[in-house]
This record gives sequence, structure tokens and C-alpha cells, in this order.
Amino acid sequence: MSQQIFVYIFFFTFSSTVFAQALPRHNPVPGGIAVVDLKTNSEKPPEVQFLKRRVMVVKGKNGNWHAVVGIPLTLKKGQRSITVKSATTTKQSFKIKHKKYEFRHIRIPNERMVSPSKKDLERHFKEKPLMVKALKTWTEQDEVPMSFIKPVQGRFSSQFGLRRKYNEQERIRNHTGLDIAAPNGTPIIAPAKGKVIRTGDYFFTGGTVFLDHGQGLITMYCHLSKTDVKAGDILKQGEKIGEVGSTGRVSGPHLHWVVTLNNTKVEPKLFLQEKL
Ligand SMILES: [Zn+2]
Repeated sequence: MSQQIFVYIFFFTFSSTVFAQALPRHNPVPGGIAVVDLKTNSEKPPEVQFLKRRVMVVKGKNGNWHAVVGIPLTLKKGQRSITVKSATTTKQSFKIKHKKYEFRHIRIPNERMVSPSKKDLERHFKEKPLMVKALKTWTEQDEVPMSFIKPVQGRFSSQFGLRRKYNEQERIRNHTGLDIAAPNGTPIIAPAKGKVIRTGDYFFTGGTVFLDHGQGLITMYCHLSKTDVKAGDILKQGEKIGEVGSTGRVSGPHLHWVVTLNNTKVEPKLFLQEKL
């Protein structure tokens, strides 16, 4: 049999099944991702949960199903398990390693953004449920695009996970996104194919866009000066979303980029293919 015929038959036989696809980097730390081989290539993917949240399941290179688990920044190192439901329900464990995130003191020139008025907070509490709902979106989809390109050309100005404190406040919060500094008006593009599920203007995040890439992989773009898309738009990788700005709580123009898996904010760099 010639090689071409063999390849043709192979493709014809398996084209209806799900092919292996790019996975994010396995980095099982708080705020990272655990890629767990479920050791099965059953026709239907098993249904997986972590901390009672549905988890993405896709085919890996070896033909087995893999769970792609977002690990909350608040979890400590140690053994954890996912619940795997197929014909039977089992548990599969994985290890979370320690990671220490650095501390950073942030100066926000607009004090109102650090100590909001009662009215500002009322606005924030109206907006928050809409944002929470967007990040909880689950879309059934066999293939999920996970080979991202950088959404903005610029330098990483504040890393994901940093323990940060604003102005004179005592409270320390983890930075749950990755900041890319760029001048006002710099184009922001879709890092991968996705559907716009919400756009808005919010007190803390300013001009904001949410993209759904399937199976709980949601990305969020904040502080935009201009938004070029609307809910329902389907974007190809590289298509323009909007422009960098300094709306919301910022110390200068930048993109605050958030990536979530199983409604958990994770390190966006784990989806970028280029060595960073
Ligand atoms: Zn940020």
C-alpha cells in the first residue's frame, strides 16, 4: 500500500473522532494548571469535576482523554483529587507543588479607585454578578483552541499571582491577571478563536470584553479605551477586540488579561507557545 493511500485511509477512518490538540503547559502550582491523563480513550469523554466545578476534558497526544484543571491561587501544596465520571465514578489524584509569589506595592493615582464611595460600591455590586456569570460560562465543544498568541504587543508590566497592596491599604490581594503595558490605542487581538459573550464598562475593570473558547476556557480583557466587538461575535485568532486604555482602576495604560478554567483564574502565560 502506498503511503498516500495509507494516510488517506487513516484520515478517513479517524476523521470523525476527536484529534489530539495543543494543551496548555502542565504547571501544577496555585494559580497554575494540572494536565491529568485520565488513562482512557473511551469513545465518550469522562465527565470531570474539581472542587465541585466542571473541568475541561480533551484528547491528548497519546489518544487518551486529559483533564485540564485550573488550580485556585488560594490552594496550598499537597495531594488533591478530581472526580472522574464515566461508567463508574472514580477519583484520580495529582500533586500541587509550592509556589511563592512576590509582593508588590502598587500606587494608584486616583484614590477613589482604592477607597470607592458608597455610590461606587453600589455600582460595583451591581456589576459583579454579571462578570461572575460570564466567567462561569460552559460551552460543550470537542476541540478547544489552546495555542494562544499574545493579545497585545508590549512588555509584561505586572505578573500573574503577585501579592499586591494598593496605596496605604493593609489588604493584600493576589493579582489575578497578567498586565501588558502598551500606549493608549494599541490594538488588542483575540489570542485564539472565541465567541464574545459580554462587553461592558465596569467600575474597576473599565472597558471590558469576555471571550468564550469552549469547555470553561474564558478570557477577559480589561481597561480598554475602545471596544470593537459585541456579544455574539465569533472571532478568529488575531482578530481585533479593541484598544488598550486606562479605564477603571489603573496606574497607567495597559491590558489586564485574565484567563479562567473551571471558573478559576490561572496563569495566562501557560497558554502562550513562545518561550517567555
Ligand atoms: Zn492587572
